[in-house]
Amino acid sequence: MITGGAGFVGSHLVDALIARGAEVVALDNFVTGAKENVAHLADNPRFTLVEADITEGLPDHEPALARRFDGIMHFASPASPTDFEQLPVEILRVGSVATMLLLERAQADGARFIMASTSEAYGDPLVHPQPETYWGNVNPNGIRSVYDESKRFSEAAAMAYHRSRGVDVGIVRIFNTYGPRMRPDDGRAIPTFVRQALAGEPITVAGTGDQTRSICFVDDLVRGILTLLDSTETGPINVGTEDEMSMRELAETIIKLAGSTSAVTYITRSADDPEKRRPDLTLARTRLGYQPRVGSEEGLRKTIDYFANRGR
Ligand code: NAD
Repeated sequence: MITGGAGFVGSHLVDALIARGAEVVALDNFVTGAKENVAHLADNPRFTLVEADITEGLPDHEPALARRFDGIMHFASPASPTDFEQLPVEILRVGSVATMLLLERAQADGARFIMASTSEAYGDPLVHPQPETYWGNVNPNGIRSVYDESKRFSEAAAMAYHRSRGVDVGIVRIFNTYGPRMRPDDGRAIPTFVRQALAGEPITVAGTGDQTRSICFVDDLVRGILTLLDSTETGPINVGTEDEMSMRELAETIIKLAGSTSAVTYITRSADDPEKRRPDLTLARTRLGYQPRVGSEEGLRKTIDYFANRGR
């Protein structure tokens, strides 16, 4: 079972699971995802898409859910900065109520529970790069808190079910991931910059553009998550890349790769936006044998191609 299976990351996970012969039930309410992301699987007998808001409980009339799952992957959650402002209560609920009820189901089924946590668990980090042992620097009630704290709560819930009820859990802290099937208007830097570059519009970099992110192509993330699924690691474990670049460099790279004439302009930066971000990948390397393979230029090219062809 995968929640958020019609979203950006979720749909790529579904593809990878189907490709290796699994039966997959995806649950999604399409709040930020889209049926089209999994439309190519509509006739696959090993795939079922269930439309449901999981914060309301798992639909008990749904035949696809009347079975024992061996894996439950909780990937549902709006995840972009625009969503933090527009869907704050939805984010809090899917990272709390939904996490708890999915953990109950994992316990009942004896399923391995994989939770999509985030580098936002580190907030605006005072330690660089960020190892899993760092507890973070999070504003508990600022505009981003709905996301950061619901993920931190989900981690706490997963660990509580693991320690006190023996649920087999794996927590992955995902660093900024990009690729095909992101929404061009979702407010995250890469789809925004690519959309603007392709339209020849000014690229809107927040603040001075000196803030950094380490960007990960979705195929690398999916490989890391499936390795975690197959392992007995509890985590939390960082998955991403060490390809750290400033937002200004990112904008310039996208302009170059898209062959665009766009100029860079600077807009107001949102509150509590992290200054630096790069995962310490030691744990992923030693415990999962994880190594990212897709360089940023290659991944960005694929993403630009996807957005360029989408409009046709
Ligand atoms: P996304 O918005 O594309 O996917 C989220 C999916 O969850 C969407 O399909 C949405 O419709 C669904 N959803 C949300 N609330 C739901 C609910 N109540 N019931 C059913 N479905 C619901 O975002 P994404 O980037 O694919 O993120 C997927 C997961 O990975 C999220 O949990 C996110 O927090 C986590 N994550 C992503 C990144 C990243 O860089 N993409 C980084 C860190 C963590």
